[in-house]
Amino acid sequence: MPEGDSIFRAAQALDRALRGAVVERFESVLPALMRVDYDHPMRGRTIESVSARGKHILMALSGNLILHTHMRMNGSWHIYRPGVRWRRPAREVRLLVATANVVAVGFNVPVAEFLVPRDLPRHRELGALGPDLLDPSFDATEARRRIRASMGETIGDVLLNQRVMAGVGNVLKSEILFVAAVHPFMRVGNLADLDVDRMISVARKLMAMNVRGSGRQTHASMNPQSKLWVYGRGGLPCRRCGTPIQSRKTGVDARLTYWCPRCQP
Ligand SMILES: [Zn+2]
Repeated sequence: MPEGDSIFRAAQALDRALRGAVVERFESVLPALMRVDYDHPMRGRTIESVSARGKHILMALSGNLILHTHMRMNGSWHIYRPGVRWRRPAREVRLLVATANVVAVGFNVPVAEFLVPRDLPRHRELGALGPDLLDPSFDATEARRRIRASMGETIGDVLLNQRVMAGVGNVLKSEILFVAAVHPFMRVGNLADLDVDRMISVARKLMAMNVRGSGRQTHASMNPQSKLWVYGRGGLPCRRCGTPIQSRKTGVDARLTYWCPRCQP
């Protein structure tokens, strides 16, 4: 599952490439998109902005139209100059937005739809998102309230729940819990307020760090091989205390969780 910080960077890159430009060509293999395009053509509209909301990308167009996409597991947006060879095969293209200078191609994008602004608050996914960790006006009190409402669940699952807080994926989940010194399988009801608040502030900090940096990094080090504290390091010594890092598969999609049994009691 892509992390919110990589979606945020993708949205920033699209925004830089497309903002203010006029759509010259729109193509899609998705019938619902083509139907809307037929009735309310994309061509000729100005791209006003591209932004991330949690793991969703919203492209706002003149004339009150929004192109909403979500990458799920395998989708991605690429940005090309016209005439440049694409890095993925054409059969994986789901939609394409071209301006005079740029071709934005959505490969394997599983969720794509047109919305109008008034749809957003009652949208089944967008309307239910928790506070966005990368939003400058992030509401920590509301985030804590939503975490607390999930009393019986483990904190690791709650961190991944986009309705509680938007943005955290599986890699950052393990990293945030390590830095905050919280055991991933702890029930929320057993956590102190201090632990919850520390975890929220660590989550915001790590997400912001990753948006600024070139790749995902949670561990400040000169060694480019050692970018993460625990994720993917099962059986290796903890970078802080030397205890072997543990890992466990959970959930229907068998996602791996990593933690240090000593640093995260
Ligand atoms: Zn440790």
